[in-house]
Amino acid sequence: MNTFLKQFQKSLNNVFTNSLISSHIREILSQPTNEIIFNFPVKLSDNSVKIFKGYRIQHNNILGPYKGGLRFHQDVNLDEVKALASLMTIKCALQDIPFGGAKGGIQLNPHEYNKYDLELITRGYTRAINNYIGGDYDIPAPDVGTNAEIMDWILDEYNLINNKDEKSVITGKSPECGGSLGRKEATGRGLGVILNEVVKDLDNVTIKLEGFGNVGYHIVDYLNTLDKNFMINTISDHTGYYKIDYDDLELYKLNNFISYLLQYQRDHGSLKNIEKFSFKISKIDKEEYLKTYSDVFIPAALELSIKENEANILNVKNILEGANGPLSDSAEKMLLSRDINIYPDILCNSGGVLVSYYEWVQNNTNQIWTKEDVNRRLDKQMLDCYHKITKSKNNKYRNECYKYSIEKINEIYQKRKSYLFRL
Ligand code: GLU
Repeated sequence: MNTFLKQFQKSLNNVFTNSLISSHIREILSQPTNEIIFNFPVKLSDNSVKIFKGYRIQHNNILGPYKGGLRFHQDVNLDEVKALASLMTIKCALQDIPFGGAKGGIQLNPHEYNKYDLELITRGYTRAINNYIGGDYDIPAPDVGTNAEIMDWILDEYNLINNKDEKSVITGKSPECGGSLGRKEATGRGLGVILNEVVKDLDNVTIKLEGFGNVGYHIVDYLNTLDKNFMINTISDHTGYYKIDYDDLELYKLNNFISYLLQYQRDHGSLKNIEKFSFKISKIDKEEYLKTYSDVFIPAALELSIKENEANILNVKNILEGANGPLSDSAEKMLLSRDINIYPDILCNSGGVLVSYYEWVQNNTNQIWTKEDVNRRLDKQMLDCYHKITKSKNNKYRNECYKYSIEKINEIYQKRKSYLFRL
C-alpha cells in the first residue's frame, strides 16, 4: 500500500478511535466499491499503436452518483487513484453535496503528446469507461493534467457512442459545451475565500505558494481582486524556487507584483527565467524557499511534497492545502506540534467539486447561471463549511472534517441499509 493510501486509512481510523460510529462503516469506507483498470490501444498520429493504462476507481456512492476528476500524469497508479477517490467521498460529504467519491486517470505524461494525439487517447479512454459512467451514475471532471478541452472531448465521445445528448455525464466542460461559468477558477477562488477569512485580523499577509498551475494561478488571481495586501514572497513551480523582495511595501504595491506574476504565467506557461526580467525576483534553493517566513503556505502541486525534511524547516503560521494530500503523516504531526494551523485539502480545494455540482444542476435543469450567481453561491458555501469545521477550535481540522463526513455517511447507511447493522 503506498504512503498516500495509508494516510487516508489513518485519517479514517482516527475518527473511529473513541467514537460510537459503527466499525462496519470503517470497513466499508476502507476499500473502494469498484476498481476498474483497463489497457486500451490507441492509434497515434504517427501511425504507431500504443497501449495506455487507464483507471476509474469508484469509492462510495451512498450519498449520490460517484464523482471525481481524471488525472493525466506519468505517476498515476492504482493506490494513488484509490486514495484520491476516497478523498472525494469525504470531500463531497463535507460540502453537503449529493455525490459519492471517485477518481480516474491515465498513466501518461501529457506534455509528451501533441493535441491531436491527446484527443485520440482521451476518446480511447472514454470508449473504455463508457459502460461505467453516466450523469446519474459516475461523473468525471478535470484534475491534474486535464482541462475543459479534454472534458469536451469526453462529452462528445460519450454522447456519440450512446446516441444521446447528456451534458451532465461530465463537469468542468467549456461554457460553450455546457460547462458552468466560474468552474475553471473555482478551486483557486474557493481556497482564496477561506484564506481571506483565516487571515482576517492581519493587515499585510505574506504567502508561500507551491505550484502555479490552474489552482495556484486562480488563488493568486482571486487574492489580487481583494483590498488587503497579499504578498507572494516565495513561489515555486516545476522550473524552480523564487523569492520576491517586498521590503518596500509601497514599491511592491506600485509595481503590482501580483499582476506581474499572473501576466508572466499567462505569457510563458511557467516561471522559467522570471528572475531575469525583474530585479525584485531572485531564484533561490529549496532550503531558502522553505526557511523564508510566510504567514501562509499553500501547497498546490502534487501529493506528499512536504515530508519530514521539509516540515522541519518550513517557516509558516498557516497551511492551506490546495493539492490533495500534500503533507505526509509525520510532517503533519511535526507541524501541528509547532502550533501551525493546517486547513486540509478536503476543505480548501472543495470549491472545484462544488462548482462541478452547480454545473450538474444547471445541466439537469437546462439553466445557465451567471458568473456572479455561481461565485456568490461558491463564496457562501465555502465560508459556511469553513465555519462549521473551525468552530471546535481544537486545531485538528482534518480530523474535524473526516468526523463530519463520516457521521453523515453513517447516518445514511443506518437508514438505507439497516440490515447491515441489525443485531
Ligand atoms: N479534481 C477535483 C478534486 O479533486 C474536482 C473534482 C470534480 O469536480 O468532480 O476535487
